[in-house]
Amino acid sequence: MDNRDLTQLSIIEASQGLRAGDFSARQLTEACLGNINQKDQELGSFLSVFKDEALDQAQLIDRSLSSRKELPPLAGIPIAIKDNILIHGHRCSSASNILKKYSAAYDATVIQKLRQQGAIFIGKTNLDEFAMGSSTENSAFQVTHNPHDLERVPGGSSGGSAAAVAAGEALAALGSDTGGSIRQPAAFCGLVGLKPTYGAVSRYGLMAFASSFDQIGPLTKTSQDSRLVFRSIRGQDPMDLTSREGYFNKKTEISKLRVGVPEQCFGEGISSEMVKWTEKTIDYLKDQGARIVSLDLSGLDYSLPVYYVVATAEASANLARYDGLRYGEAETAKSLQETYARTRSQGFGMEVKRRIMLGSYTLSAGHYDAYYQQAQKARKVIEAEFQKALVEVDLILTPTTPGLPFKIGDRIDNPVEMYLSDLLTVSANLTGLPAVSIPVGREGKLPVGMQLIGPSFSEDFLLQIGSHLEWLS
Ligand code: GLN
Repeated sequence: MDNRDLTQLSIIEASQGLRAGDFSARQLTEACLGNINQKDQELGSFLSVFKDEALDQAQLIDRSLSSRKELPPLAGIPIAIKDNILIHGHRCSSASNILKKYSAAYDATVIQKLRQQGAIFIGKTNLDEFAMGSSTENSAFQVTHNPHDLERVPGGSSGGSAAAVAAGEALAALGSDTGGSIRQPAAFCGLVGLKPTYGAVSRYGLMAFASSFDQIGPLTKTSQDSRLVFRSIRGQDPMDLTSREGYFNKKTEISKLRVGVPEQCFGEGISSEMVKWTEKTIDYLKDQGARIVSLDLSGLDYSLPVYYVVATAEASANLARYDGLRYGEAETAKSLQETYARTRSQGFGMEVKRRIMLGSYTLSAGHYDAYYQQAQKARKVIEAEFQKALVEVDLILTPTTPGLPFKIGDRIDNPVEMYLSDLLTVSANLTGLPAVSIPVGREGKLPVGMQLIGPSFSEDFLLQIGSHLEWLS
């Protein structure tokens, strides 16, 4: 098998190949490193690559394999990690100048878990600064390109992770999703992207953006792979008191499925291509015997403004720690006040500053009631509406994005237009519900993703249904 083929394997195929002795973990890792070498200059997926360490890790796995030790399924699998998740001893920048010299003092819980499984960390991937954005253009260091069309964005904020997997630079990646940052890049790059139930995966060691929304999750080629990675990172963690175990036992065959489709999926702001693919997916589900229920979720119309009020408020508080004293590269100045001001004005990029200002404004005395509190009330209403819908139907189907991957540079000067990319993804974060983006097909060379949202802790169920929808045509 040549190197190119190895990097096109799913985790499950690669894992079988390793066990059958068809190739070694070293060969698999070398194949991914080969792609990084060849393509990453152009793609810009990685902020750092752990070549020697990855090869050493691979060698250890090969030794265990040859002594016929029973190994977990992720052993020997090269995985890329978004650069807002801590790996002990490695730089973790969140693609921000303020953290360009920061080195992680400990492993995130998800990293500890993957390490125990024998996964190979191949490098850290690019993102929008502090995960704020939908195109990865907000990185302080580089722009990442979509492997399917280099003139277009890979989505964001986990754009580096998505591009890396789509280009065969890693077999899977971790991303973080606060308002769509795993699902939207997965849709733009033709991958499966899972945003787990809030609390299903520990956030310990993830740089906080909006703590009541943030979740870590996998970007993979297939739904089965997604399930595998999710199973190895989930679970309650004493280091994150919002993490919890949850159960969902209902198994519904696709032929008995009740699928809810919000009316908004055909409304304003949704491109004709996305409407077409939603209809195609609906037709397929109907052919399989599923029942389609049209949902009137009026809360969806408010989810974007609610998200941007709450997310910026939480971000303004979370980012207070980057002051040059607690965290961040301090700029020298005469007074303490001036040190703060210089450090923060030089260290943060435009979008991050915009959000800190918006968040500080909506939390300030006199505006708190009108914005923050109002948004929290609306969030409760949206949550109740989704819970009610999920009694009537087994899952909710929407396109993941309102349109196809857009061109690099097209939206960067228009923040509101950029925020509209999150129209269909933010409600899963507002409600804490699990959601997955499944690649259903292509428009020309550009991939199209559909989103499934389900009840709390229904990830396995969503991925099982999702596996039927992969690459419908
Ligand atoms: N694009 C959204 C935002 O900019 C979501 C980001 C994310 O999920 N991290 O806030």
